[in-house]
Amino acid sequence: MSTSAAESILPYADGDFYAFEQMLTDKERDRLAEVRNFLAREVRPIAVDCWNRGEFPMDLIPKLADIDLVSPVRRQGHSNLFAGLLHAEVTRADASISTFMGVHDGLFTGSIEALASQEQKDVWLPDIYSLKKIGAFGLTEPLGGSDVAGGTRTSARREGSNWILNGAKRWIGNATFSDWVVIYARDVEDNQVKGFLVDTTLEGFSTAKIDNKIALRTVQNADIALDNVMVPDFYKLAHANSFRDVNKVLKVTRLGVAWQAVGQQLAAFDVARRYAVERHQFGRPLASFQLVQSQLVQILGNAVSSMGMMVRLSQLEDAGQAKDEQSALAKAFTTERMRESVAIGRSILGGNGIVTDFGMGKIFADAEAIYSYEGTHEINTLVTGRAITGISAIV
Ligand SMILES: Cc1cc2nc3c(=O)[nH]c(=O)nc-3n(C[C@H](O)[C@H](O)[C@H](O)COP(=O)(O)OP(=O)(O)OC[C@H]3O[C@@H](n4cnc5c(N)ncnc54)[C@H](O)[C@@H]3O)c2cc1C
Repeated sequence: MSTSAAESILPYADGDFYAFEQMLTDKERDRLAEVRNFLAREVRPIAVDCWNRGEFPMDLIPKLADIDLVSPVRRQGHSNLFAGLLHAEVTRADASISTFMGVHDGLFTGSIEALASQEQKDVWLPDIYSLKKIGAFGLTEPLGGSDVAGGTRTSARREGSNWILNGAKRWIGNATFSDWVVIYARDVEDNQVKGFLVDTTLEGFSTAKIDNKIALRTVQNADIALDNVMVPDFYKLAHANSFRDVNKVLKVTRLGVAWQAVGQQLAAFDVARRYAVERHQFGRPLASFQLVQSQLVQILGNAVSSMGMMVRLSQLEDAGQAKDEQSALAKAFTTERMRESVAIGRSILGGNGIVTDFGMGKIFADAEAIYSYEGTHEINTLVTGRAITGISAIV
């Protein structure tokens, strides 16, 4: 039997060491398998090339619409465990495409679902769910990153039946081509951060792509300038009236990013395990060396412990009991484990680990963005630290 034929029947080759997928319903497992096939067919073959060129595959959008991935929990009635495993699986195929989905579905659609009125949802959501309208999420600013809650400088001024937005946003994913962006801006009247659905064709709205990234190169991140953009009152999100409301969205999307950290570790496991089995040195497979086995086991242990934490947190979310600090710890812990896992994976590939041709170079680099967005590792650690001590060390 050839090496690859032998390994295809290995029981743990998929990395789901404790069979977490068995907790899904039969229907959810079938759906996950359907999405896996889609990713193998449509995403994996193009992922490295798009990343190398720094271009988003626009022709993938109708295919993503056909496979119908948006809002698996609120709209499709799936469990948060299913949604998490799905997001991990998309990340495992390509972290950039999962970030595109995380922005459109988690941050943007999540803002509308959580903070819009029923009337607004009825008008906007059908096109958002079907990807006829692509969305982005504009919170971070050039001068407001980790401190954006108190540090939002973009302003909103009520003028008759319109709002006038002025300011700048930075790092906004999908924004170079999105139809809509939810912009969070501070109302000059009451100093509270409010949310607005902004049409990107409005006068005074402009974007500039952020070039030369070393991570998630396929994701189109942009600097946004808002110069007296006039937004009709209907487009002010009815229930986005303070930063506490924004946090309702971030609590859930942080879960999504922690699931991305799971997917990224499974991706590193896939590539490193296969490479170690196939590559020979000293006349033997790398996998026959004890140190290399120890490294593979370290990646696996990191991945499945992260997964176990996320499975429980998803159950709490399903029960409506997950708390901000639980999402924060999950994001901090899983991304720290991810950083170690992708570094070990990179080392197992030796020199071939630093190029994208073998997959690992991209996995290694993309992990850095996941480590820092949706609240950096430090901020999520401090949110957790505040919860267990009652003392805030953030400021
Ligand atoms: C690829 C990518 C995609 C993104 N997509 C979006 C998007 O779609 N929409 C959006 O709104 N934003 C987006 N972001 C922004 C992201 O959320 C911010 O980068 C993140 O919140 C950190 O802000 P910052 O980069 O300004 O870092 P800073 O806040 O300047 O922090 C720099 C460093 O200082 C540390 N630090 C800051 N304050 C403290 C403190 N009190 N104690 C200890 N350490 C501290 C941080 O942890 C970090 O290590 C994206 C970022 C990236 C990289």
